[in-house]
Amino acid sequence: MTDLQIAKKVTLKPITEIAEKFGIDPEKIEMYGRDKAKIPLSYINRNKAKKSNLILVSAISPTPAGEGKTTMSIGLTEALNRLHKKTTVVLREPSLGPVFGIKGGATGGGYSQVLPLEDINLHFTGDFSAIEKAHNLLSAVIDNNVQSKTQSLGLDPRTITWKRVLDMNDRALRRIIVGLGGTSFGIPRETGFDITAASEIMAILCISKDLVDLKKRLGEIFIGYTYTKKPIFAKDLKVAGAMAALLKHAIKPNLVQTMEGNPAIIHGGPFANIAQGTNSVIGTLMGMTHSEYTVTEAGFGFDLGAEKFFDIKCQSANISPKAVVLTTTIRALKYHGGADLNNLEKPNLEALRQGLPNLEKHLENIKKFNVTPIIAINKFKSDTKEEIQLIKDLAKIKNIRIAVADVWAKGGAGALKLAKHVIEVAEKCNTKFKPLYKWNMSIESKIENIAKEIYGAEHVDYNSVAKRQLREIKTLGLDKLPICVAKTQKSLSDNPKLLGRPKDFIITVREIEIAAGAGFLIPITGNIMRMPGLPAIPASEGIDISNNGEISGLF
Ligand code: ADP
Ligand code: MG
Repeated sequence: MTDLQIAKKVTLKPITEIAEKFGIDPEKIEMYGRDKAKIPLSYINRNKAKKSNLILVSAISPTPAGEGKTTMSIGLTEALNRLHKKTTVVLREPSLGPVFGIKGGATGGGYSQVLPLEDINLHFTGDFSAIEKAHNLLSAVIDNNVQSKTQSLGLDPRTITWKRVLDMNDRALRRIIVGLGGTSFGIPRETGFDITAASEIMAILCISKDLVDLKKRLGEIFIGYTYTKKPIFAKDLKVAGAMAALLKHAIKPNLVQTMEGNPAIIHGGPFANIAQGTNSVIGTLMGMTHSEYTVTEAGFGFDLGAEKFFDIKCQSANISPKAVVLTTTIRALKYHGGADLNNLEKPNLEALRQGLPNLEKHLENIKKFNVTPIIAINKFKSDTKEEIQLIKDLAKIKNIRIAVADVWAKGGAGALKLAKHVIEVAEKCNTKFKPLYKWNMSIESKIENIAKEIYGAEHVDYNSVAKRQLREIKTLGLDKLPICVAKTQKSLSDNPKLLGRPKDFIITVREIEIAAGAGFLIPITGNIMRMPGLPAIPASEGIDISNNGEISGLF
């Protein structure tokens, strides 16, 4: 059965009932139909949130299909609830890019899903659209200002870094010329589109603490320079208020339910290869306010999403996880050990053994943050006893807790052992995590720290554009911001072909983007694209809607 077929068998509870279970008067939620709602921000309480046990689910370096962090987060949440710990899962919203591309949706899989699958994966409550509109309003205002004879700030169009966004894998829009057609059509200039998940507005929404913080950050967005080299920010264009108005509803977290009828919060959706890779601070705090345990996800792998989760999100929101669950699959380890992507279901102990260093490196990385790792083997049908034993042996040698979690086939019942480990670790934990670097270090030292400590690089190289940008960022006084590296998720390095645990490699920074509103700098490494493309056979080919409105083909 497909994920969608399994999902359709579940009778959804009214969202009012879920709100009550979560601890909010059902009269006070804002309904989006029968199964979805938004929760007003007034239901966040910092003091209550502090008492919640935050659990981070991350993963080893994934295969293109994903290794099951979302599925694991949901299954673990069901299991903790079965053990009578009031637990909420807090996740990212899906982007249409992966839904129509290779990876598919982001609502989990098998018997560990959040529902309604079709709605959450297609438009949901409109947050992505609102983010897109707020972003593109700024773009329109910029080009309008460049055109204006009376209001012009003197922006040099060649320095404008603000692009447009669309929630679609559309490579043809990566580089475009706008303003063609004559004097009343604008000033021609080169620009482009990024995917909405890469928008700085998405990053801002996900890092903001409240509406005031959101508006302030929107004003701080860096746009470019005037002909006399004066930096221009969104506030200079008097547009932050209108952008914030467009985000009035998008800033509120969305409430849905898991397959076993537990509350789930889904809010914000930045990718981790090009942005900070975790759901909103607001969503996390909302979950924590109302739960004994709050399970959240950061990925792709630990090197990307989780490093940013700690050094950007936890640092700025002043939260600290009690444990890290490292989702591990036998198939990904075989892939890292040299097995062919199309052959990962075949038993292959040798490839698995060769792939283990990838797992070891991620475990070492978790410990650098002074948090206890727990390995969760996400069980696939093709896994053999011998293969599972090999990972258990490694865990024993390294003295790390491990559980096989069959959340995909069994839901919460498949993760009881994992949940018990989580409870034991969380109840013992009385320390805060240790950040990898201090924000007030130089940009180069911060990047070097991440590259050497987390990725295992030998050295960081900057090409000439990046070197110039380093100087500019220092002049702008923005060098004390944290770092959000854009890097491939396929490898610990910036080269997707270097699998396993690569060594002696160099990280090359091509460019450094300024996200002054979100409050971080984005060194762009390798060939990472902020506007992905569709594969030759996109997933959209399999998606359909029947005469009576039933959607099929989503996964
Ligand atoms: P991630 O969050 O790490 O990207 P997901 O949880 O979204 O990964 O899972 C990616 C895909 O893999 C989903 O389509 C899901 O149904 C599938 N999947 C996850 N775990 C399993 C499993 N144990 N067996 C089979 N399919 C799985
Ligand atoms: Mg996921």
